[in-house]
Amino acid sequence: MDGKILLLPGDGIGFEVTEQALKILTAISKKHNRSFTIEKDIVGGAAIDKYGKPLKRDTLNKALNSDAILFGAVGGPKWDDPTIDMRPEDSILTLRKELGLFANIRPIRIYDSLIDKSVIKPEILANVDFIVIRELTGGLYFAKPKRRYTTRTGEKAVDTLRYSEQEIQRVVTLAFELAQSRKKKLTSVDKANVLQTSRLWRDVVKKVSENYPDIALDHILVDACAMELIQKPSKFDVIVAENMFGDILTDEASVLSASMGMLPSASVREIPIEGRTTLGLYEPIHGTAPDIAGKGIANPIAAILSTALLLRYSLGLTEEAAAVELAVNKVLESGLRTSDIAKDNEQVISTEEMGNAIAALI
Ligand code: NAD
Repeated sequence: MDGKILLLPGDGIGFEVTEQALKILTAISKKHNRSFTIEKDIVGGAAIDKYGKPLKRDTLNKALNSDAILFGAVGGPKWDDPTIDMRPEDSILTLRKELGLFANIRPIRIYDSLIDKSVIKPEILANVDFIVIRELTGGLYFAKPKRRYTTRTGEKAVDTLRYSEQEIQRVVTLAFELAQSRKKKLTSVDKANVLQTSRLWRDVVKKVSENYPDIALDHILVDACAMELIQKPSKFDVIVAENMFGDILTDEASVLSASMGMLPSASVREIPIEGRTTLGLYEPIHGTAPDIAGKGIANPIAAILSTALLLRYSLGLTEEAAAVELAVNKVLESGLRTSDIAKDNEQVISTEEMGNAIAALI
């Protein structure tokens, strides 16, 4: 048995795109003689409807006992009522926290065949191929106190930005290791001119860098990074950032690619360099896309590329991962397009046809 995978399609197009990812796993098992155990469960809005909560304890236990989790997306207008305390998104936040998935890895690659579909000029996009590593379980989104309260002079609210040396060290070490397997270039993002947590971040990065003398390291302020991602994206190779900076920068970076439907992500708790595997959760960066859900037109490539990351990082199947990525590249070069990546005059294919075409090439 080559891997125990928990499939959590979630809501909206999460179902449609993970169905295609499943076809890819079947194609890989046939072509490369691999065997996967795949169990499916309900999370998010679908789980609120069926069980009254977005993530059952039983589902969390299954995740803990898997090698990897393939996740679709959760949420939608049906569960958006702000007066209800329970949200579909709690399922993914709990999974990340409970599984200790402290690093989110998001590769940003621009396909030559789609370069003219981006809103950014083609000459700026040439040779863009970088990875953003975002700290995922600390910082402003989790630290306490975090509350809204009323005083005699009006309402106030507080969020706390706190990082420990250990939290910074583990994600930064992971970034250095990944940089070592690429072009040996790491950019660390902070706001050290203003924030104490950023000064600690920068000091820890410098200390960890002593173990990696062959990596070219530079520090960049988050505001400058936001500009350079759009002006000179090809200068980056590996970027590491704390939780909120990483959240914003990764969404900005996704604009470089032709569509949200193209970008995969991996959330891990160990350094997933070649030969070493880690429990991980793999998901497209997009949400449930209520505007197109159920129409069979969503682009499944982000989910399929997430499956390639799963094969590489959690199952150690590097050759198989590369086969999936190659098949995606070939399909795009052959001109097949879902509607989000098609130009005005181009013929479009459905979610299912795109999944079938990639599976067939494997
Ligand atoms: P979205 O990513 O779902 O959609 C943004 C736009 O991109 C839409 O126009 C959509 O049609 C398009 N799009 C997204 N994925 C696509 C694909 N694969 N193929 C073609 N087009 C695609 O973001 P949103 O509209 O802000 O959010 C919708 C819901 O998803 C919300 O409830 C939100 O909370 C949830 N969400 C969930 C996750 C997650 O589960 N991790 C992440 C982001 C958003």
